[in-house]
Order: sequence, then C-alpha cells, then structure tokens
Amino acid sequence: MEVLVIGAGLAGITSAWYLAQAGCKVTVIERQPGPALETSFANGGQISVSHPEPWSNPSAPGTILRWLGREDAPLLFRLRADAAQWRWGLSFLRECLPRRAARNTAAIASLAVYSRRELRALRAQTGLRYEARDAGILHLFEKSSEAADLPRRLHELEALGIHGRILGRDEAIALEPALAPLGHRLAGALHGLDDESGNAHLFCRGLATLAADAGVRFVFGTRVSSFDLIHGRLAGARIVDNADRRGVIGADAIVLTAGSYSPGLVRPLGLRLPIYPVKGYSITVPVLDPERAPKISLTDESRRVVCSRLGQHLRVAGTAELNGFDLSPNPGRSAALVRWLEERFPGAADLSQVEHWCGLRPATPSNVPLIGPGGIDRLYLNTGHGTLGWTLACGAGRAIADIVTGRQPEPVFPFLKAR
Ligand SMILES: Cc1cc2nc3c(=O)[nH]c(=O)nc-3n(C[C@H](O)[C@H](O)[C@H](O)COP(=O)(O)OP(=O)(O)OC[C@H]3O[C@@H](n4cnc5c(N)ncnc54)[C@H](O)[C@@H]3O)c2cc1C
Repeated sequence: MEVLVIGAGLAGITSAWYLAQAGCKVTVIERQPGPALETSFANGGQISVSHPEPWSNPSAPGTILRWLGREDAPLLFRLRADAAQWRWGLSFLRECLPRRAARNTAAIASLAVYSRRELRALRAQTGLRYEARDAGILHLFEKSSEAADLPRRLHELEALGIHGRILGRDEAIALEPALAPLGHRLAGALHGLDDESGNAHLFCRGLATLAADAGVRFVFGTRVSSFDLIHGRLAGARIVDNADRRGVIGADAIVLTAGSYSPGLVRPLGLRLPIYPVKGYSITVPVLDPERAPKISLTDESRRVVCSRLGQHLRVAGTAELNGFDLSPNPGRSAALVRWLEERFPGAADLSQVEHWCGLRPATPSNVPLIGPGGIDRLYLNTGHGTLGWTLACGAGRAIADIVTGRQPEPVFPFLKAR
C-alpha cells in the first residue's frame, strides 16, 4: 500500500515510521528543508502524561475573564475579524462544560498512557537518543489552596491509570535540589511518575533518519498546494518545490499531518477542521551551573510555564495567544520567560545567550486530536494535537498506521469514523 504523509513534524514523522513498520510504502512531503522545523522545533520538551486536562475545563472561562486585557496573560485571546477564531472560541467555551471536559480528559489520558508506552518501546527497539530523561515531571504549586487540592487531583489521575505522588516542600527540594532558592514560594508539588522529557526536534531528526533507512522517502522543500478529487475519492496531491517545479503524487492513502495548516489544505474539498493556531513561546539557554539548573522537568502550575533540561541547555516554554497565523515575536512574552528563569534559578543559565522561539500549536477546542478517516475516501487525519503533540506523538502515529492498514487501534479513544 502506498501512503503519502503531508508534513514532517512530530505527527508526520511518527505516522511515517509506524506506517513503514506496518509494511506500507511511504512518501513524506515537507515544505521546510528538514524535519520538525515548525511547531515541533522547540517545544517544552515534556511527555506530560500527568496533565491530560485540556485548557477548556470548567475553571477556564473565569480565569480567561480575569486575564482579559493583560498582555502577560498565560492564555490571551486577541479578538480579530476572523470567523474561524470566533467559531473556535465558542466551541472552546462549550468544551468547558464539566461533562465534556471530563470526557475529553479521559480520551487524552488514554492516548497519553498508550503513547508513553509506545515511545518506550520505540526507544528500546531503535536506541534513539534525543536528550531523554525519564525521572517524571514535578508540578509545582505556589498557592496553598492549590496544594490542598492535590489529593483530589491525584485521585482523579489514578482513576485514569496515571501514577503520581504528592510531595511537600522539603520532599520536592530533596528530589530536585535546584528548587532550594524558590522553596519559600512552594506550597506543594505533584510528581508525575509516568512522565518524561526530551528534545522533540532531535527525536524527529533521528526518527526520520531511521525511517529513511527503513525505506521511507522524504521530499523536503516541497509543499502540497491542493488535491485532485475524482468521483469523490482523493486521487493525488499536487506539489510545488522551491524552484516552482510542479507535479502530482498519487497514493492509496493520504495522511494529513500539517499541524495548524491542515484546515487550509482541505477547506477547498469542503471539509472544515476545528483547528486554530495557538501561539506559544520558548527560550533555550545554555546551562551555566549544573547544580543550580533543574534536572527533572518542571511545570509551574501557577504561571503555566514548563522547564526541561535538554542536554546542556534549559528550555523554558509557555503562554498561549490566539492571534491567527501571526508568528511575529512578542518581546514582552519572551521576556516573561527569561524573568521566570532568572528569578527562580539565579545563576543556573547563561542569560547572555538566550535563543528565542515561538510556534503555533494546532489546537482543537477540546485539545482532543483528530485521528482517523478524514471524511473523503483515501484521506486520513492525524492532526490537532494542541498542547500535547509531543506527549501523544508515538501513540497517535501508531494508531493512524493501524487505522490506515485496517487494524483496530489499541487505546480507548474517540477515533474519527469513516462516513
Ligand atoms: C511553546 C510550545 C510548547 C509546547 N510544549 C509541549 C510540551 O512540553 N509537550 C507536548 O507534548 N507538546 C508541547 N507542545 C505542542 C507540540 O509541540 C505540538 O502539538 C506539535 O509540535 C505539533 O506537531 P505537528 O506535527 O502536528 O505540527 P508541526 O510540527 O507544525 O508539523 C507540521 C508540518 O507540516 C508542514 N506543512 C504544513 N503545510 C504544508 C504543506 N502544504 N505542504 C507540505 N508541508 C506542510 C510544516 O512545515 C510542518 O513541518 C508545545 C507547543 C508550543 C508552541
């Protein structure tokens, strides 16, 4: 079976890998000159199984209202004359209803647990190295009301098959001594035991090389411009390379993994995917003093900031901004991440060498990705992974390979159904 994968980010590379493992002849088309150069380039690095709850949860509307108009708000809606943004925003509000949020959390948790297992299996099978650390994630809480709520949170996670433990301030510092300078701020911590961290860009590059060795053909610097539809079935994809050479590629199946750009590609086919770009920022800074730089991946729950040690660097990431496809950096948002690092881990990193980055999370209102048949014969989707594309990558890639090759994917998850 010949399969065309569109996009070589986390979703595309893992889809291509598992499709090739399942015996398919795979071609990947990517407009950039290499793998993972867009949203999968410099994310927070967390495999965050212990954070399945989407942004759209019952407490979100109140929190967003409180943050409204604040430039440094962790989640910022910049309202535009953009029907897609308004539609997405209204759906987001609907997904905040308690029953919907609970259902979405359960779906994400199921895929995340499965994905982490697949990531481990892949690592054991291939020996892939990508600055991985599997000491878990430490969720930090500064408000005593949040710390008091931890037993309930842990109970909910355990009900979803996710393991963790509650730590007091001293226990958290014993686990991660670099937290000592901010000990006075800490009210409590939750240690996600199923979590990991690692460099998504290195992972994608390494897996793309292994996939190419296994026969996957990568066509970089080439973009899919449109599709040929014959008698209601996708006959092929039209491509244009950087020298403006054009062509058509046919396939038995086309898997769309183009991140935030997925809806625009299939809109001319009459399909409306509920995905909107949600911009986030990261900084990457060389470690100056290894003792002062955290080794375990951290989530500052009060500020919605994450921090991962990636080799000799610290990656700090966070913030969400709904502002269309605008990729221009907002200096205030980047500066807030630098300040976070400077205040909490003084002397840990060389702040004269900060690499700034921002990317567009392909977000559905529920944060549940779209995986399965795409509503037109031969079209499949593996997109819309939002805040958790690294966490869910291996599970989603394996699942779409199962679906395309006619097998039942393992996790209990609302996979899309053929029409
Ligand atoms: C600041 C930030 C922090 C994050 N932190 C984490 C984290 O800690 N843990 C976690 O699990 N997730 C995290 N995420 C989310 C995660 O990074 C994304 O969900 C994930 O990278 C999305 O991968 P993707 O493959 O769907 O999209 P992308 O990586 O954007 O890949 C899509 C690819 O498709 C290509 N493409 C698009 N259109 C075309 C076309 N017409 N023709 C050919 N190619 C095309 C693009 O060039 C791109 O390479 C974070 C995201 C951000 C922004």
